[in-house]
This record gives sequence, C-alpha cells and structure tokens, in this order.
Amino acid sequence: TSSTPVINFGAGPAKLPEEVLQEVQRELLYYGTTNISVMEMSHRSADYAVINDGTQQAVRDLLNIPDNYKILFMQGGGTGLFAAVPLNLMSETGCADYIVTGSWSAKAAKEAMKYGKVNMVVPKTDSYVDIPEQNTWILNPNASYVYYCANETVHGVEFPFIPDTQGIPLVADMSSNILSQPLDVSKFGVIFAGAQKNIGPAGVTLVIVREDLLGKAAVTCPTVLDFTVMAKDNSLHNTPPTFLIYVMGLVFKWIKRNGGAEGMKRMAKEKSGIIYDLISSSNNFYYCPVKSAVCSRMNIPFRIGGPNGNDDLEKEFLSGAQKLGMLQLKGHRSVGGIRASLYNAITVDNTKALAAYMKEFYQTHKK
Ligand code: PLP
Repeated sequence: TSSTPVINFGAGPAKLPEEVLQEVQRELLYYGTTNISVMEMSHRSADYAVINDGTQQAVRDLLNIPDNYKILFMQGGGTGLFAAVPLNLMSETGCADYIVTGSWSAKAAKEAMKYGKVNMVVPKTDSYVDIPEQNTWILNPNASYVYYCANETVHGVEFPFIPDTQGIPLVADMSSNILSQPLDVSKFGVIFAGAQKNIGPAGVTLVIVREDLLGKAAVTCPTVLDFTVMAKDNSLHNTPPTFLIYVMGLVFKWIKRNGGAEGMKRMAKEKSGIIYDLISSSNNFYYCPVKSAVCSRMNIPFRIGGPNGNDDLEKEFLSGAQKLGMLQLKGHRSVGGIRASLYNAITVDNTKALAAYMKEFYQTHKK
C-alpha cells in the first residue's frame, strides 16, 4: 500500500477512481462465487456473459443509447479504430470527409488515406488552437462519412457543438471526453473511445455504431476490426479483453453513483473553470494558446513564462509538482510545456490542489 498521497494528472492511461481500484483489489483473486479471478474466466461462461452484457447495458443507460445502436468492445486502441472506421464505412463511395483539428484527427486522416480518398474539411494548419466556423467547411456530398475528434488530447481543443453533416453519417473519436457529459447519440453514425482516459484501463475500445451502417465493410477488413462481425457475435467473436471490460463496467457503475453523465459534466465544468480562471488571471505568466470557445474541459495545455514558455521555469514547475505528489503534468512532447488532464476520476479537490500550487508558483516566480 502507498502512504504518499499522489494526484495523477496524466493524459492516459489516466487515474482511475480509487473506489474502483479497491473493488478490483477485493475481487482480484476470487470473483463473486466463482472462486477464480475474472482474468481466469472463460469468455464463453455464464459468469462472463453477465459482465459482458452488464457492461453494455451500463453504458447504454448512462448515455441513453437508442436501441438501433450496437455497443462493441474492441481491441487495437484508438489507433485500431483509425483503420477500422474507413475499412467498415468507406467502401460505398470510396471517400470520406475529415475535420482535422489536432494531431489525433490528423493521424486518423492519414490512416484513412490508405483505404480511400480523404477530403480535408478545414484548411491545414500546424498550430491547432481553434475550430474553423462551420459555415467555412467544405463537405463533400459524396462522402461515406464525416469524421472528427471531439476532444484533441494533445492540443486541448474540444468541440463545444456536434458538427452538422447534412445527413452524412458522423463518426466521432471521443477517446478523451467520452462520458464527461450527456450526449445525443442519435446524431452519430459511430462513436469510439479508447478506455484509458475517462472510462477504464488501456486495452479495450468502446464502439457505438448505428445498425444501418453495418454490413458495409470492405472485403479486406480484418475480422477483428469488422463492426458487423463484432456486433453479430456480441463482442465475443474471439477472446475479448475480459478483465478490462470488467474494470470498465465498474467505472460505469461508479459514474452512475456519481450523478451519471450530468454529474460528470458538472464536475468537468467546475474543474476546468478553476484552472482556466487561474491561467487568465496570471497576466500571461501561464499561457494557454487555445481559443477560449474551444478550450478543452479535459486536457489543459499551457506554457509558463509567456506564450513561448520558459524552459527553466517549466522544469522547476514540474519538479516542484512532483515533490508535492502531482504526477504526469508534462505536456505532450510535440507541443512542450505543461498539460493538466482533468478526466472523470480527478476530483474537484485534486484540481484545487493543483490550482493552489499554480498560484503559489506564480506569486513566487512572476517578474
Ligand atoms: N484518439 C485520441 C483522442 C487520443 O487521445 C488517443 C491517445 O491518446 C488516441 C486516439 C490513440 O489511442 P491509442 O493509443 O489507444 O491507440
């Protein structure tokens, strides 16, 4: 057991609710009345069926997922889905629209180019700090789908709205903001999320797919990436990541106990507000480059000592944070600086502790 309290602000794999980890610990060796660990359980057993179906039902309830959507548990991470999406959806017209607003949607677009024609909906940029106005987007009426990343984990750009695609199926990567707010699932064709940020451990990817989009996979689509096969076999076509699905199910129950999607939304607003308010009242000592209308509630990237950052100050900030038990605050290597990730398991108190440290660091280091 650890006696040093730490707060893990990592971008993913990220902090899990302590209650969930304790439950996992209690049940680790003997699950229920089975006398074995979930890790040792056959995925064809009745006990595992309860976990598989229960985890699906829990997320269906949390997000009010309509009956005409299938819920799949897949492998290959978010990156696997970058390939699965075009392989499952692109074959009809051979082209798709990508709204690139950060490095993750850029990677998804690049992967899709292997399988068909990709139309870039917004102008190319290297500094992802904004989402261009919807009336400037160039959508292709022949696209099989329109793709976007609802929250760009590296750049801290989050869509405050659901794109209007004029009837073309909308595909969303929600890896870093799934279940941080209620969602009108009926507006989407496909939603996917790697679990390791808001809803569980790394190794399982939640996929929500509208039934009418099934049955269109390319003949070359690998079976494990085929939504239609996974849906038909209830995510049991091959051996699923059983233990991870079990943990994700416990996280869903925890979210429900804590006010559901609405509760997560309230917390996310409060937590991110605390940090953004502090940044904006620091006379540019702390500097977040993202336009305020599209600032992420989940990942807050910022520089210290002005817009370009001061290396020495940032290093000192990180080592001071580390000493206080605040971990994994270093920004992504591609953008540098600091990044605070405030996923569901980070509490308001955790956030206040970070804010207090930031305030003190500001007062002792400002010019
Ligand atoms: N999409 C988003 C928004 C992410 O943040 C990440 C990883 O951080 C990915 C996709 C890639 O996920 P994975 O590492 O599970 O392949």
